[in-house]
Amino acid sequence: PVHRTAEVQAARMKLPILAEEQAIVEAINENPVVILAGETGSGKTTQVPQFLYEAGYAANGKIIGVTEPRRVAATSMANRVAEEMNLHDGQVGYQIRFEGNVKDNTRIKFMTDGVLLKAIQKDFLLNNYSVVIIDEAHERSVYSDILLGLLSRIVMLRQKRGNPLKMVIMSATLRVEDFTDNQRLFKTKPVVIQVEARQFPVSVHFNKRTAFEDYVDESYRKVCKIHRQLPDGGILVFLTGQQEVNALCRKLRQTFPGVKKTGESKPDEDMEKVLSKIKAKKQNMKKRSKKEVDQRVKINLDHYSALPLQEQEQDHDESLGDLVDSDQELDINDESEALSQSQTAPPLWVLPLYSLLPSYRQQKVFAAPPEGSRLCVVATNVAETSLTIPNVRYVVDTGRVKTKFFDKVTGVSAFHVTWTSQAAANQRAGRAGRTGPGHCYRLYSSAVFNDEFEKFSLPDIARRPIDDLVLQMKSMDIEKVIHFPFPTPPDIQQLYAAERRLLLLNALEPPPRNIRLKRKISQEWTSKITPLGRAMAAYPLAPRYAKMLLLSQQHDLLQLSITLVAALSVQELVLDQPADSEPGDTHRRWLGQRRSWAGTGQSLFLGDPMVLVRAVGAAEYSGDIEAFCSTNGIRSKALREVRKLRVQLTNETNLIIPSGTTPIVVDPRMAPPTELQAKQLRQILMAGLPDHVARRIAPNEIKEAEDRRKYKYAYRCPEMEDPVFLNPSSILRYSHPEWIVYQDIYEHDDKIYLRGITAIEP
Ligand code: ADP
Ligand code: MG
Repeated sequence: PVHRTAEVQAARMKLPILAEEQAIVEAINENPVVILAGETGSGKTTQVPQFLYEAGYAANGKIIGVTEPRRVAATSMANRVAEEMNLHDGQVGYQIRFEGNVKDNTRIKFMTDGVLLKAIQKDFLLNNYSVVIIDEAHERSVYSDILLGLLSRIVMLRQKRGNPLKMVIMSATLRVEDFTDNQRLFKTKPVVIQVEARQFPVSVHFNKRTAFEDYVDESYRKVCKIHRQLPDGGILVFLTGQQEVNALCRKLRQTFPGVKKTGESKPDEDMEKVLSKIKAKKQNMKKRSKKEVDQRVKINLDHYSALPLQEQEQDHDESLGDLVDSDQELDINDESEALSQSQTAPPLWVLPLYSLLPSYRQQKVFAAPPEGSRLCVVATNVAETSLTIPNVRYVVDTGRVKTKFFDKVTGVSAFHVTWTSQAAANQRAGRAGRTGPGHCYRLYSSAVFNDEFEKFSLPDIARRPIDDLVLQMKSMDIEKVIHFPFPTPPDIQQLYAAERRLLLLNALEPPPRNIRLKRKISQEWTSKITPLGRAMAAYPLAPRYAKMLLLSQQHDLLQLSITLVAALSVQELVLDQPADSEPGDTHRRWLGQRRSWAGTGQSLFLGDPMVLVRAVGAAEYSGDIEAFCSTNGIRSKALREVRKLRVQLTNETNLIIPSGTTPIVVDPRMAPPTELQAKQLRQILMAGLPDHVARRIAPNEIKEAEDRRKYKYAYRCPEMEDPVFLNPSSILRYSHPEWIVYQDIYEHDDKIYLRGITAIEP
């Protein structure tokens, strides 16, 4: 029996889902799969696990599992449920990537979807679980989607063995048909329970003018106005990331100055730590004899090692930039600082909310603000459906969301701020109507909403190349990926292309010769993963870049190749010379600089990637980065991104490299590659780009005399019918070698260009 406090009991009674307890438990008792759709805040996440606990699903040592696409939801909801049930002995726990408080006696386990995926890799039937709840299924994260497919099969297998597993899919009230009307996923249509929520009317106010660039400023003005002029009630602001959230919090507190200031965290101390680490690493490297390095010239393509597969989850609202934000975050540990006052308005209780905020600070949004003050939560889209903040009456919606985009050619990802979908904007507006009638202020016009916003956000799986996904599934020994019951299947051509590329990378076993000749690889043959593929699957990178980093564990190449992969991953680090115009002085200077970076011999063979690595190093050495970048045609914003990526990739690498290896550190001022290292990097690049090979078109292949000049820089690529051309800024235009590998292909003025060129043959 559960002993809840009177206070908790009273709060629960207000939740609409409580009236449905019996219906929900009966439906789950009687059906293998139940879909529960309900308005955000109706009590799904906090209450359904408790219903199941009280209905006996935690008996006989079995676990009630709940998956969340976001880490913040997993930790916060586990704490809340433990609190509500008055169970503080570990019976309610959470597990996220590298952190958790799960014990042997844990009966209700909240986890990220990636954690459950890994659990399935260990025990396919999930025998310890009596029920698995896939929460926030409407978010359509790639891992949740895969879990739906896997669980639909596991449920059938467990049923056959007389040890049934229940599956509960919980979602906000949108697009439930994707799950119900999908015969491949569920042969018999699952039971759907709709939870009616008390939703009060929300008046939506569009801006006449859309805030395009300055939406953070605009949200600031709106909050000030609401706070000064409108009656009581909490304010919830939607921004796109941690930096914006912190900036707005800071500004609001300046406007409504606080009672007292406390010390900000000390940046100098951190810097000191970083520097001493770098020093230690350098000394370590010096110890190895130079001779030893010289002997290890060749890159051994079979040399790689990694720990067993790690979970790779992503949080939708966190970008790499946020993870390594150098901006000192506002310290509001001291409660009095969050409370800001001014003569003209009552105090404003300003709280940030984003995934990476420590959970004790996240919890603050649920508590009532101090007497006489107004709550203002500045959030990323975690507040859209994952967390319900009480007593919000005003929503300020910038209409933006930060999304991960993928380069189709390279598979490299980047975060961009775009318009959110109409469905998401309506979810945001709904946050104002939980406890009474409310208002939503949209900082964009109704025309923009109608014409520019998509109706629904695309599921993640439809938005990106799936090489990494195929590799993940193969690493779980799901060989026929094509037959997998996806809620929304990926495009079949996309799937074949992914398999082909993985084969070329030696991540998959090659098919027998007779099948290879028919060129219908994926239809008749299902490739198994290779040991190299398994190691690659441990990296949160496009497989080709993962392979490059794995091979770089030899010869102390990791620092360099991390910089290389980071520089290749950022768009237009080094600006192109305009193809059309006469090169002016500036461009001539840029070209001169690039030629000197490209060097001679091995360095020049490495080509454009060499220029990138040296551009990064030179800029970091320069002292005045902005000035250096503008004189040398480097995009300083891109350079900052490279720096952040290097930190991220270094951290990831340290998690993957075998124990006993000295962890690597990021030294921004890295020395340029030696001749030897340039040669090794070239071998590593070729190992990662086996499908990106091109051959120069020889003069005798061109018939017309006048065509000869036109085809001076023309190459043949396997996948392209027409010739492709060396990018006008490529350093290898000077030598245009016969065989090259390239990073990507792009189109400009009806001409196709290759970019990021390295010579295969000197
Ligand atoms: P749903 O999953 O249907 O969106 P939830 O179960 O997350 O709903 O939320 C139900 C209620 O519990 C909401 O009113 C929310 O504000 C409240 N709640 C959730 N977490 C906490 C917490 N840590 N402290 C106080 N209240 C909370
Ligand atoms: Mg929920």
